[in-house]
Amino acid sequence: MDYSAGQDCDAWCNKCKMVLRHVIHAVVEGKPVRVECKTCRGIHRFKASQTATAPRRTRTARRAAAPKEDKTLLEWERLTEGKTLDDGRRYTIFETFEAGEFVVHIKFGLGVVKTVQASRKVEIHFKDGVKTLVHSR
Ligand SMILES: [Zn+2]
Repeated sequence: MDYSAGQDCDAWCNKCKMVLRHVIHAVVEGKPVRVECKTCRGIHRFKASQTATAPRRTRTARRAAAPKEDKTLLEWERLTEGKTLDDGRRYTIFETFEAGEFVVHIKFGLGVVKTVQASRKVEIHFKDGVKTLVHSR
């Protein structure tokens, strides 16, 4: 049906934050364009419902860390459970490390030696992830 000025219609009121009865003030091509809220007496543009306006979506905060990083962190937490920096040997390139040994690196903190590689390299699992470092120099 076509509306005309002076009629009542249901419209969204931005002040009352709900759909309420409004008095139509202006009609264009049979549709209300300007309405007056019967509750707050506010005069505003016609909106059928709240969703007719630009929806304000709350973005769900996504964790920045990728699943792979989470996995290495969980693994590190498991490996170093109950350990402190006092339990690790201080890392320098002159020391020789063995797999399973706890290492304290000045930058990366506490880590666990995963594997000892050829050409004097060790893979150490730090909180940040697995790093390959030199040793036995
Ligand atoms: Zn209102």
